[in-house]
Amino acid sequence: MTQATVTASELEQAIRNIPDFPKPGVQFKDITPLLSDPRLLSGAVDLMVSAFKPGDVDVVVGIDARGFIFAGAAAIKLQAGFVPVRKKGKLPFKTHEQSYSLEYGSNTIAIHQDAIREGSRILLVDDLLATGGTAEAAVQLLERIGGRILQASFLIELSFLRGRDRLARFPIRSQITY
Ligand code: AMP
Repeated sequence: MTQATVTASELEQAIRNIPDFPKPGVQFKDITPLLSDPRLLSGAVDLMVSAFKPGDVDVVVGIDARGFIFAGAAAIKLQAGFVPVRKKGKLPFKTHEQSYSLEYGSNTIAIHQDAIREGSRILLVDDLLATGGTAEAAVQLLERIGGRILQASFLIELSFLRGRDRLARFPIRSQITY
């Protein structure tokens, strides 16, 4: 199969801005037009993992729920495992929990206590970096169980919310910045 290369600007054109969703004042970045295009979906994942090759990463950790789409695909491309960080109450086994505030509202996320082996090399993936609260909480959970985060990779970054400043200890990558 030939691998088509996509540009960040093509990805950006496939993201739809929905004003005032889910609350007044929020500019929601709707990625569903990008996801439904096979070339853009595959190209987006390629760009998100481009710093690594198979064998560099033990586990790709995805954040509930849109992060799972990219993290699952990234794990397969990197021949790594996949670990979910989920909203509280969704994981069936023993968990650790962490609360945080979102751009809209607040939330608690959880990870299985035995999700990774001590010292695992982790690529953290989500669709969008806004205030960084979600990713920071995921980092806290991963570090509590002995994970070593190599990079956090996002499709979209809302840079005016300065989420990057909360994740200063490892490289942060994003493909589309607003
Ligand atoms: P934050 O914790 O503020 O960095 O928010 C990041 C999380 O909230 C991600 O999992 C996103 O899916 C979601 N999110 C926050 N703001 C937006 C937005 N403007 N459009 C789409 N998703 C968003």
